[in-house]
Amino acid sequence: MRPCGILGGTFDPIHFGHLRLAEEACEALDLAEVRWIPAGQPPHRAAPRVDAMHRLEMVRRAVAGNPAFAVDDAETRSAAPSYTVTSLERLRAAAGARPLVLLMGADAFLGLASWHRWRELFALAHIGVATRPGFEFSPQEFPAELAEACADRLGRNPGALREGPAGQVVAFDMTPLDISASLVRARLAAGLSVRYLLPDPVREYIDQHHLYRMPDGR
Ligand code: ATP
Repeated sequence: MRPCGILGGTFDPIHFGHLRLAEEACEALDLAEVRWIPAGQPPHRAAPRVDAMHRLEMVRRAVAGNPAFAVDDAETRSAAPSYTVTSLERLRAAAGARPLVLLMGADAFLGLASWHRWRELFALAHIGVATRPGFEFSPQEFPAELAEACADRLGRNPGALREGPAGQVVAFDMTPLDISASLVRARLAAGLSVRYLLPDPVREYIDQHHLYRMPDGR
């Protein structure tokens, strides 16, 4: 069974860095599909700039038309804080023995040891880590407890993801795109163009709803 990818994030807003991450993960890791999970209220970082329903709708518009992409709205519908481990428990229960691959950029992976019940993630899914400009992905640079937890799991062989339902960490290279949601928000707040940084339907949605007109922190 080909693995199912899972991509969580605040998507505040979704941009081409996210979309290429999912697209290139499908190729590099031979995923059958990617399930997108916009976070509701992520507990480990500042509140998203726009509310969950807008972020969900932007993800829906961005992935529309790609039959390999599906949107999971469970976290945005829930009033509880969004924890990846909780979503993975739900998805694991539904997936049986099928491999699940939690996708993330190198920046997110380097902070993994701060996530709620992070050690349990390895029992629920594999982890697929994409390179991201500005973030070094070398095991010597990992925080000590992350390095220790990953010591016997880490590799670059996507075939390892089919050998079991969970537990491997596989890094893959993606086309470097130095785009972040923070950059998109800063440009919008400054009245600058975000065309070609994110899909047109998302840009139109942002315009229609007057989103991100103020700088972060306001
Ligand atoms: P912000 O700038 O608000 O921190 P972000 O652009 O990092 O946001 P998130 O929604 O926090 O977006 O990211 C969701 C996931 O996508 C994370 O795992 C992150 O590492 C990854 N990601 C985002 N942008 C890129 C990119 N340009 N290249 C590789 N991975 C990315």
